[in-house]
Amino acid sequence: MQARSESIRKQGKRIAFVPTMGFLHEGHCSLLKKGRVLGDDLVLSIFVNPTQFGPGEDYDAYPRDMEKDLQLAEREVVDAVFTPSREELYGSNFQTGIELEKLPNHLCGLSRPSHFQGVALVVTKLFHIVKPHVAIFGEKDYQQLAIIRQMVRDLDFDIQIEGGAIVREKDGLAMSSRNAYLSAEQRKTALCLFQALQKARKAVAQGETDTAKIINDMAFFIQSHPDTEIDYISICDPQTLDSVDRIQKSVLLALAVKVGKTRLIDNMILSP
Ligand code: AMP
Repeated sequence: MQARSESIRKQGKRIAFVPTMGFLHEGHCSLLKKGRVLGDDLVLSIFVNPTQFGPGEDYDAYPRDMEKDLQLAEREVVDAVFTPSREELYGSNFQTGIELEKLPNHLCGLSRPSHFQGVALVVTKLFHIVKPHVAIFGEKDYQQLAIIRQMVRDLDFDIQIEGGAIVREKDGLAMSSRNAYLSAEQRKTALCLFQALQKARKAVAQGETDTAKIINDMAFFIQSHPDTEIDYISICDPQTLDSVDRIQKSVLLALAVKVGKTRLIDNMILSP
């Protein structure tokens, strides 16, 4: 992969890169479409990264379908698909990590303590292997995108980072590989994340600025659905992810909710 990337670079071409864990959906495809425009050579990686899963999380159960993924990659005119094995990336004597400060101490980082260290590590490795000029990440994983932007700035990676808007199902549920875990009943319930975000957006549009009230109303709404357990609902600064009490400028509203055993996340920027 490194030799290929080196040769593409020598031809003066721009490499665009979309890292994923596979089980591709239209959310991933939207990032590939963006990459197709931003680069001359488009690389997709598919790797279910063990270091970003905590104990008891769904690493083994994570959905995989390489055949369908490769069909989608072809449809999106991807030039190369990088599908390393766990052994190839981490081997038996792996001993290096990336330390992150501040940004992981919010949102998903609180209930998934080493998750973003694992993400930063695999993204760093993939960057060194794929050697992209530009990499595209989804805004659905808002905190992940923020942490990667920070890491790229802090560690002087010569890579442009681009975000892609959240792609939703027709009814509004944010697309996610993990939606495949949901039963028909849970799939209906899962819509309450997006509906709660919309309710909050409406309240803010009507002049509500008290974040505690907005969060309480959202929690009440979500808890009225069966089989739900709220991990967090947060209204925070879009850059630092620090909580805010009053909405005076654009804020990030982000939430994570378990529907049955499936942990779903979603977010929206709210402007007063
Ligand atoms: P994953 O395979 O879940 O690790 O996701 C790979 C990339 O796709 C990440 O940058 C995600 O943020 C992005 N992504 C996942 N779901 C969506 C979505 N519904 N809309 C936009 N981007 C997404």
